[in-house]
Amino acid sequence: MHYQILLGVTVTLDVKTMIGILFLGNLALAFLTLRYYLYHKSDHEKKLIQRFGIAKTLQATAWLFLFLRGDISDIISVYFGNILLFISFYLDSLLVLKMNKKTKMIWFRLQSALLALSIILFLVFEILLGTGNIRIAMASLGVFCVLVIPYLLNITNNPGSRFEKFIGVINLFFLTLLLLRAVNSLLNADINLLTNSFLQSLTFVLLLLLMFVNGTGFLLIMYERSYELLKESSNLDPLTQIHNRRYFMNKAETYYQRALRGQESLSFLFVDIDLFKKVNDIYGHLFGDEVLKIVARVISESVRPVDLCCRFGGEEFLILLYKTNNEQAVLVGNRIRQTVENLVFEENREFKCTVSVGVYSGLPDSDKTIQHFIDNADQALYRAKESGRNRVVSL
Ligand code: GH3
Ligand code: MG
Ligand code: MG
Repeated sequence: MHYQILLGVTVTLDVKTMIGILFLGNLALAFLTLRYYLYHKSDHEKKLIQRFGIAKTLQATAWLFLFLRGDISDIISVYFGNILLFISFYLDSLLVLKMNKKTKMIWFRLQSALLALSIILFLVFEILLGTGNIRIAMASLGVFCVLVIPYLLNITNNPGSRFEKFIGVINLFFLTLLLLRAVNSLLNADINLLTNSFLQSLTFVLLLLLMFVNGTGFLLIMYERSYELLKESSNLDPLTQIHNRRYFMNKAETYYQRALRGQESLSFLFVDIDLFKKVNDIYGHLFGDEVLKIVARVISESVRPVDLCCRFGGEEFLILLYKTNNEQAVLVGNRIRQTVENLVFEENREFKCTVSVGVYSGLPDSDKTIQHFIDNADQALYRAKESGRNRVVSL
């Protein structure tokens, strides 16, 4: 069909050609993703990539069957073509649901029910009526039913990024158009798949655009997630899974500046496991590692979400308590000390572990730095060690 767009520019949009491009485009996407999957089988999100590749393979096959309408048996083109299209969009929909790890099982089941319903209704109407316009209406409604809920969920209750939501909005826009196409086809008896009406052409132009948007969007979302994961793991200590020193120091600087502006008290606590070298010497390094993990857990569970804690190095941990004065900080230090003292270790029920804690609190001022607070907490820890260990000392 020819469209006069602007200043005499004429564009020809032929539905059959666009279906051919959809076939080739999906085939290329399927090939690339499955190839990538074979090379990177150990990727953490490999299952998502594999599913994306399978969905695109089915979709390419579906478009091929639809492209060959008239040249191959109608049974294959109409029945297999449309049903494969439903299944491929259904796989896409599962992928959208899977991207949100919190999606409840019920939504996956609902999607399967909607796929079954779409196929059954399509077949019933096809067998009973078999007209081109009803077929287009049922195919459009089927794809709409299978995709609408995941994308709605995606933009309403997905903890994912704003970019993911943006992709969701684009798809919902397309689904609205699909609904319009279904209604229009129901009202116009002389429409069929290859009719070059404005709405038909617009639907296929959007399908082509969506192929690029969803293909690139999927890859960018995966990239965004890997990046977040990498960033998060680079902030953690590999053994104890609490934050590492680098992360702590960066964050502590922000806290310090905020406390300086608001003239709020900060407390630093150094926690050091007593005679830990002996633990390693007597029970071995593996048991020593276990003790480190458990002490780290006690520490991270003893502070509020607003506070900071890290493994500063070896068997030393550093805590920053926000808006906390010396009295409160000593209480927290003692709570940690007592919890560690009362720990019972599964691997060795006789074993006892203690920690010493050095506390330094004060109001930040522009002449001091974080290092001043940390040095003083370290000094307090030294005194706790000197005066017999398993105690909290504050300067
Ligand atoms: P103190 O009461 O004075 O703190 O004595 P200590 O033995 O705890 O102190 P020291 O600093 O001499 O020894 C710390 C030990 O911590 C030495 C090192 O072998 C051990 N250590 C450091 N990092 C790790 C680790 O990742 N795993 C294990 N198992 N041990 C570690
Ligand atoms: Mg120690
Ligand atoms: Mg030490």
